[in-house]
Amino acid sequence: MFRLEKFMGKRVLTSSFLDGEAVQAFFTTRDLPLKSGEREDLIQEVENNKKLVCEGLNIPLENLVIPIQTHSDNIRCIEGRRDRGMAKAIPPYLQPSSLLEDTDALVTNEQNLALALNFADCVPIIFYDPVKKVSAIAHAGWRGTVSKIAPKTVEKMVKNFSSKPKDIIALIGPAIGKCCFEVQEDVKNKLLDTIDELYHEKVCNDNYLDLKLINKFQLLATGIEKIDLCEYCTFCQSELFFSYRRENGKTARHSAVVIVRSEK
Ligand SMILES: [Zn+2]
Repeated sequence: MFRLEKFMGKRVLTSSFLDGEAVQAFFTTRDLPLKSGEREDLIQEVENNKKLVCEGLNIPLENLVIPIQTHSDNIRCIEGRRDRGMAKAIPPYLQPSSLLEDTDALVTNEQNLALALNFADCVPIIFYDPVKKVSAIAHAGWRGTVSKIAPKTVEKMVKNFSSKPKDIIALIGPAIGKCCFEVQEDVKNKLLDTIDELYHEKVCNDNYLDLKLINKFQLLATGIEKIDLCEYCTFCQSELFFSYRRENGKTARHSAVVIVRSEK
């Protein structure tokens, strides 16, 4: 179950599915954008917010990893020593390099390393494997959903870190709902092609599609059993979220953040 909470005085959404786990994960609201996007007036606020998030998570700014997203299905894996602790040195993979460009999902087995991706209507998905202590975030807009970035992220967790899908907890965060996501016939067909025909009726109402539910069905097909799905529609809930569609492409981005904690 999703619930609104305060993190450093700002509204964020968390899920009861991660209660008691050695992980912190949340979806920010308009209170805490980590990307200014087309809103140049928010550039300074975003820089302050990154510092605020790191302060709240008790990590140095270098331990917050935010890639450049391009609606691709490129998944980058950050593999390293298990506990980054309070290391001050910027690790080589965070130096300006090609590693984090053109990236729409991140996977890591590092502890105390925060992953963050940015959203305005697209579907954010946070993953956590409590057995292998692996975290991930995927950015599934309609293009990412068509290319099945969510199941591909699970595959990466399985391949690189021996995660078992049945252990993985997935949180499908706030995104544009079926109420507001109207698409063209060709996009609709591409999206429906990614899931079993059995579910087609459930995920669409005419040309209005439920992107969150499509991602859920894609994930169920990988063997994941624990999936929490957020009911908020980013287009409807203008007071809480940015919406690329509602704001005609002139908007900032709310974010998904996950960090695995070192064992006590
Ligand atoms: Zn809506």
